[in-house]
Amino acid sequence: MAKHIFVTGGVVSGLGKGLTASSLGTLLKARGLRVTLQKLDPYINVDPGTMNPFEHGEVFVTEDGGETDLDLGHYERFIDEFLTRNSNATTGSIYQEVLAKERRGDYLGKTVQVIPHITDEIKRRIFALATDDVDVVITEVGGTVGDIEILPFLEAIRQMRLDVGRANVCYVHVTLVPYISPSRELKTKPTQHSVTELRSRGITPDVIVCRSEGELEADLRLKISSMCDVELNAVISAADASSLYELPLIMHDEGLDTVVGQVLGLEQAEVDLTEWEAVVSHVASATAPLRIGIVGKYVSLADAYLSVVEALNHASAAAGVKPTIDWIQAEDAEGLLAEGRLHDLDGIVIPGGFGPRGVEGKIAAANWAREHGVPCLGLCLGMQVMTIEYARNALGLERANSSEFDRSTPHPVIDIMETQRGVTDKGGTMRLGAYIARLKPGSQVAEAYGAEVVSERHRHRFEFNPRYRGRFDASALSCSGTSPDGRLVEFIELEDHPFWVATQGHPEFKSRPTRPAPLFAAFVAAAAARTAATRVEVPQGEAASSEPQVSDETTAGRVRGRRSSQAERPDVAVDRDPVGVGDGPVSRG
Ligand code: GLN
Repeated sequence: MAKHIFVTGGVVSGLGKGLTASSLGTLLKARGLRVTLQKLDPYINVDPGTMNPFEHGEVFVTEDGGETDLDLGHYERFIDEFLTRNSNATTGSIYQEVLAKERRGDYLGKTVQVIPHITDEIKRRIFALATDDVDVVITEVGGTVGDIEILPFLEAIRQMRLDVGRANVCYVHVTLVPYISPSRELKTKPTQHSVTELRSRGITPDVIVCRSEGELEADLRLKISSMCDVELNAVISAADASSLYELPLIMHDEGLDTVVGQVLGLEQAEVDLTEWEAVVSHVASATAPLRIGIVGKYVSLADAYLSVVEALNHASAAAGVKPTIDWIQAEDAEGLLAEGRLHDLDGIVIPGGFGPRGVEGKIAAANWAREHGVPCLGLCLGMQVMTIEYARNALGLERANSSEFDRSTPHPVIDIMETQRGVTDKGGTMRLGAYIARLKPGSQVAEAYGAEVVSERHRHRFEFNPRYRGRFDASALSCSGTSPDGRLVEFIELEDHPFWVATQGHPEFKSRPTRPAPLFAAFVAAAAARTAATRVEVPQGEAASSEPQVSDETTAGRVRGRRSSQAERPDVAVDRDPVGVGDGPVSRG
């Protein structure tokens, strides 16, 4: 029977519960256990697919087409397994199920209530993951223990202890130990309050993971142990780390997997972290600077492009380069083309997105990269804007556009997919999940993948318009990857450019620290080659003065670059675009 670990959070959100759950997954897997992870989200949206990235961060797409919480991205990267849509449940999806049963009459006339019907449905979701091929299910509960909407989830996980037996459940509580600068003290009181709150719901944590700026001293550990009623070795100090991939090593040194193993009565086992140690040492030893611009519209929130940033990190560490991300606000199309704005970049990434806002800036950046021989990687919307750019400026198709952004364009080189016509519901209705593509033998993309049949995840409603295929085929732009029936264009590349490559898919979702996504690896290699070449040309003194003003301050596993001045304006932080609902009225945004 599978064992269950529940990870809850206290004091504040954004503490790194997801990374704690992921690190624990890494460690248990390294002990030879079969692990799976799950996120329970107390909000009412059925899934995050229709939420704005400013609300929620990236929507992580699973192989089976689930639109899920970004923590699933961490889970997949840390345990190196594909998860499914079943690894994410929200209050909305739970109520949807219960209400459907009620309408079918499944409750046989009973009054339907939060307890037991909602809590039972929550438990059903948890048990659904505890299959015969899983030893440990790690379930992270989103939000913090004081939230009103978290109560049914806490009640469900409390009941689990009786359902599966005390010895098969471990409660891990992640909390904040803040540093108060004037008195130069770390404070344990918020942790005590948060544990009191959890206990008032009937859950006594077995392990407390304390997030703090620096490591906890022995006296504070003792205090937390006695005040919160946990064993001393179960007080885990998780200080800010320089790289998120260091976290499993830190947690292991702190004894997290040992104490969880004791609580669950797991057999003592050797922990093999060699692969993980190699990742951390690659990250640490990769020092050659690489300046990558990400042209997007949610640039003040790096979480909106989390998997893209991680895929860049994976590819860079493997190539021995240290990326600095320059966040470029796509809406500022003119500022973007201002003298020098893109000049110092070694490579440009144009990520996915929805709605017309910022599209002209992305097209301008794609054009700049094409004309200046700068490596450029387009992802989903990125491929679409690169297609539009080429149509307008190389094929002479004036006002070429996507019908998503201009319904009256004379040249809809990107158009709504046949299968999407007439689709009105926005949630879960895009072309979603993994699809196979065939790559042209000898193409740049086939070389990057080292294969001619590849599979990547998708999330879109619009496509390269096949009516324009002939004009592109007669040009230097090659449709180098298509769906197996040859109809859908999935990859494009430019024959006379070092790397101007794009895909309709999202290769970032499958990138791993130990196995960078091939397209990102090829992009980073091209960008690094360009840096090496420029560095030879530019005399030392000048090189220093041409450094872009960027920083990649990495705290607690979050990589945040400097925002563009545009993004720092408070008004830009308010985004009203239809997200994931890109074919809404074009006047919006
Ligand atoms: N808005 C575009 C579409 O729906 C691109 C989507 C994306 O980038 N994920 O086709």
